[in-house]
Amino acid sequence: MQSMHFIGNDWFAGTTGKTFDCVDPATGQVFATLPAGGAAEVDAAVTAARQAFEGWKATTGTDRARILRAIARAITANRDRLASLETRDNGKPLAEAFLDVDTIAQIYDMYADLAEDLDRRGEEAVAVPGGAFRTTVAYRPIGVVGMITPWNFPLEQFTWKVAPAIAAGCCAVVKPSEFTSLSALEIAGIIAEAGLPAGVLNVVTGLGSEAGEALVRHPGVDKISFTGSTATGKRIMRTAAEDLKRVGLELGGKNPVVVFDDVDIEAAVEWVAFGAFINQGQVCTATSRLLIQDGIADRFLKRLVEVTEAIRVGAGTEEGVKMGPLVSQPQYDKVMAYIGAGRAAGAKVLTGGGRPMGRDAGFFVQPTIFAEVTPDMSIWREEIFGPILSVMRFANEAEAVRLANDTAYGLAATVLTADAARAERVADALDAGITWQNCNNMVVIQAPWGGVKKSGMGRELGRWGLESFLEPKQKTRWLPGGGLGWYDIPATAAE
Ligand code: NAP
Repeated sequence: MQSMHFIGNDWFAGTTGKTFDCVDPATGQVFATLPAGGAAEVDAAVTAARQAFEGWKATTGTDRARILRAIARAITANRDRLASLETRDNGKPLAEAFLDVDTIAQIYDMYADLAEDLDRRGEEAVAVPGGAFRTTVAYRPIGVVGMITPWNFPLEQFTWKVAPAIAAGCCAVVKPSEFTSLSALEIAGIIAEAGLPAGVLNVVTGLGSEAGEALVRHPGVDKISFTGSTATGKRIMRTAAEDLKRVGLELGGKNPVVVFDDVDIEAAVEWVAFGAFINQGQVCTATSRLLIQDGIADRFLKRLVEVTEAIRVGAGTEEGVKMGPLVSQPQYDKVMAYIGAGRAAGAKVLTGGGRPMGRDAGFFVQPTIFAEVTPDMSIWREEIFGPILSVMRFANEAEAVRLANDTAYGLAATVLTADAARAERVADALDAGITWQNCNNMVVIQAPWGGVKKSGMGRELGRWGLESFLEPKQKTRWLPGGGLGWYDIPATAAE
């Protein structure tokens, strides 16, 4: 287990002398300590990245693809180590951590293919009428990218940024979440061993208010790619605006699922429970608002409660566990406060609402469902980021769409119905960057991921993720030769 900053393919203890603790969410016990970097560490990392960029931007997509494929193989070879570290640090069930590791290996392979595509694409010709210009567009890497990631999918969020940035020819300085920094360090070491040149990838551990702020302010950073809360995203955008850094923002959500009365109840209940409780509900696209059509509401909710109560909650390392603890004490406190606010506002707890029996240590919360919710309640309006589902009923399609879209967020939305035409219609009407029909919270890594409204700007994954690290550069050549003949230029005086 690595416990130092990773700069220029080397390990550094840092200079601040400050540290922070890594806490096992299943026990609440400290199991590692990491250096809390500041401006000096960020500067060292950005300097290493800037130096590496001169050579890295000159490589071909095919060169970079070779390294990306080697990274994918190295991740698979270190599957057990990465997954168990992720579960220890984040709390998620081991089966989910394995899924994350397998997915990130696929993502490095996908970006290897897309890096090769860049070579095939070459410079794109632009059709210009008139024949006076030969215009092409070359795609250039943006430069050095500062990446700031959250704690809910540490390896995935790291990879969604690092893999396309490497494929594009960019260099990166990553500041992972203080709550889950260990897997970023571990994978950085694996990536270096797989052959990535020194300085292309750097990791500085520390707090958002110190290392994160220093990264956003650093003049050597060309773009900030941020995933986290909407509040922090706004702050980062303001700071980045001071020297017009590019920003990519993947922010929060308050995602609805609309369930019509023609569904197969068993399947729909499972999709709703999956969307609400996978990863302890700590998913930006987590289903946190259920809109259920009147005709089946009672039957549906009865079954949903049964399924929810059968979810086995425990430490991520325990056999058969489908829900682990929340990531940290602050997150536990926040989720419990929302449960209290829901009760106080008059919502009815259908199931859950507290700590599971026998789990006195660690940050465990029962999967919880609230009924009798009204649109003004905080549990309906605000992102909770925990295993809390709020339910409202609707009569018809128009009402469902209106209630679903009545939110400041626009990340994901789901529609469950047996009527394919209605599924298409509702998916089109929902204000969200990602929509699912007859499934829920399925990540298609080839497709664009990101939100509208206050859920962010820009897209990750697929070719959209790669484009976000490229700048189109226009190259126009004047074909007729000679000058334009615009001015009444006097004849050159005879010598
Ligand atoms: P957060 O509190 O906003 O933190 C995210 C990252 O920003 C952390 O690394 C944090 O550092 C850092 N940070 C905090 N203040 C900063 C500042 N002033 N300058 C620079 N960096 C700063 O979010 P979180 O609680 O970790 O993550 C949960 C949020 O992420 C939810 O809102 C969720 O919806 C969102 N999310 C969105 C997506 C998506 O794809 N749209 C995916 C996953 C998560 P420290 O924590 O180390 O202090």
